[in-house]
Amino acid sequence: FPVDKIRNFCIIAHIDHGKSTLADRLLEMTGAIAKTEKNKQVLDKLQVERERGITVKAQTASLFYSHDRQEYLLNLIDTPGHVDFSYEVSRSLSACQGVLLIIDANQGIQAQTVANFYLAFEAQLTIIPVINKIDLKNADPERVESQIEKVFDIPREECIRISAKLGTNVETVLQAVVERIPPPAGSIDDPFKALVFDSNFDHYRGVVANIAVFGGRVKKGDKIVSAYLCKTYEVNELGLLRPEEHPTQKLFAGQVGYIVAGMKDVKEAQIGDTLYHQEQPVEAHPGFKPAKAMVFAGMYPMDQSEYPALRSAIERLTLNDSSVTVQRDSSLALGAGWRLGFLGLLHMEVFNQRLEQEYNASVIVTAPTVPYKAVLSSAKLIKEHGSEELTIVNPAQFPDRSVVSEYLEPMVLGTILAPETHTGKIMSLCLSRRAVQKNMVYIDDQRVMMKYLFPLNEIVVDFYDLLKSLSSGYASFDYENAGYQTADLIKMDILLNGRPVEELTTIVHRDRAYSTGKAMCERLKESIPRQMFEIAVQAAIGSKVIARETIKAYRKNVLAKCYGGDITRKMKLLKKQADGKKKMRRIGNVEVPKDAFISVLKRK
Ligand code: GDP
Ligand code: MG
Repeated sequence: FPVDKIRNFCIIAHIDHGKSTLADRLLEMTGAIAKTEKNKQVLDKLQVERERGITVKAQTASLFYSHDRQEYLLNLIDTPGHVDFSYEVSRSLSACQGVLLIIDANQGIQAQTVANFYLAFEAQLTIIPVINKIDLKNADPERVESQIEKVFDIPREECIRISAKLGTNVETVLQAVVERIPPPAGSIDDPFKALVFDSNFDHYRGVVANIAVFGGRVKKGDKIVSAYLCKTYEVNELGLLRPEEHPTQKLFAGQVGYIVAGMKDVKEAQIGDTLYHQEQPVEAHPGFKPAKAMVFAGMYPMDQSEYPALRSAIERLTLNDSSVTVQRDSSLALGAGWRLGFLGLLHMEVFNQRLEQEYNASVIVTAPTVPYKAVLSSAKLIKEHGSEELTIVNPAQFPDRSVVSEYLEPMVLGTILAPETHTGKIMSLCLSRRAVQKNMVYIDDQRVMMKYLFPLNEIVVDFYDLLKSLSSGYASFDYENAGYQTADLIKMDILLNGRPVEELTTIVHRDRAYSTGKAMCERLKESIPRQMFEIAVQAAIGSKVIARETIKAYRKNVLAKCYGGDITRKMKLLKKQADGKKKMRRIGNVEVPKDAFISVLKRK
């Protein structure tokens, strides 16, 4: 395929604006999949994606399209829209020359629309604004076009109005891809050079890497080198993704496809790595910034006998998701386990859900924490550590004030878009989360865009849910990293009858300790069933208790229903009660339902 007949593009948008639906239509129109009623987000293959209706993993599809009696090869990369997965967006972008920026004709520009626009803009890609869902009764494409002019400085004439659901005007989108997006730059006569922009693990073949060929050609049997590890591999298989794997003899400059080359570990196919021919080394592509874990949590087996099974499940799942960091960890209360790092809370929940669904694992997850830092003041500790700065991803390892000159917490710059009528409530929510307003502009006569500097830990767990509910779903939110700031941090323990609940130890800002501790005690009280004795639920800083709730004693008398003396029936009921207890964690003599912990962290 001549390079000038190739177009590589991404679809980017705020969540639910119709990326996957448009991808379905494009696949149908170019004959990649048959046209049926059943095509609903066909690129969302994972069970979690189908259940949650979100795209987690970017997918690639090569399409053949004729326009003006010319054949074109279009490489489409569908991307996730949620903020936690924006690293998927940025790496997909580096394989493209243009993007379709989808905007819902009713909702207009949202927080992730803005974030994704800037990713594409900074990567200097051609941006085609597409206004979707014009079939909706309350669609207002005029207004959305004005927003696009105002916020992105793109003339309204460049917008394409479509209905991805009905297929209206989707042909125009394909034409615009061919006419407006430039072909990739490389030439087939250059030395072979390819960028790894994604990788998956296959049980039989090892790593399947998605690559964008920037120059030259590659074929089966070629000896290729990964620039990052300087390791040589032999190409076993390669081809196009349509979206199913479609083996071919060769891949050429400009093409996007997959390659299998005997790599045994996704770490060997680093995202952002460059591949070249053994005899013809090239300069490596300036890789990506590696995805940085923002949320850490401990994961432990419910029962230590399940440790090996959980280990293998975590290993297999992280084979496919190189953005999860894994460290072994252990605790007195929970035994041997791991501390995992995620890109955000949704990423963590999705990972946990996949562990349970795809690997049938039962996991205890501790309170998520953000990566704090401590500047050590004790010469002895600095020496032990090899550096003055210590990153804390486990509250159990929080160093005492006496050996620290300063604590630091990670900050983010948040963008909120919302109808003007909700700004009052949103501002007080932000204020209660220690946020500082940086900027506020009207994007039209009814909607505002606000920028706030937030401590990351204040938004990680429940900020988005609260923002959604107080704005009846109309506000949207996105954030980017904004470095570290000094903070007055302390470690808080939650105690049940005097024993610390290790899952719930958290690091909090001193100003928020009382309210957070009180709220956690109240919610823990709600989620622990009454037991035979009274239970004190306390929040404590060191030895000082700052909040307390009491769970009254109660005996669930399962035998009360058996008036007579049917002993087998009695035994059955007792067994049933014992089975019911299996999903419980014992802390001292108190039984706690396993799912109590995460619900305790979410503020209503
Ligand atoms: P994504 O999150 O951007 O991938 O969005 P999806 O493609 O999953 O679509 C989100 C929802 O919007 C789904 O329920 C779609 O059926 C619906 N949707 C997508 N395009 C249209 C459209 O053109 N018109 C209408 N009415 N609904 C649409
Ligand atoms: Mg999608």
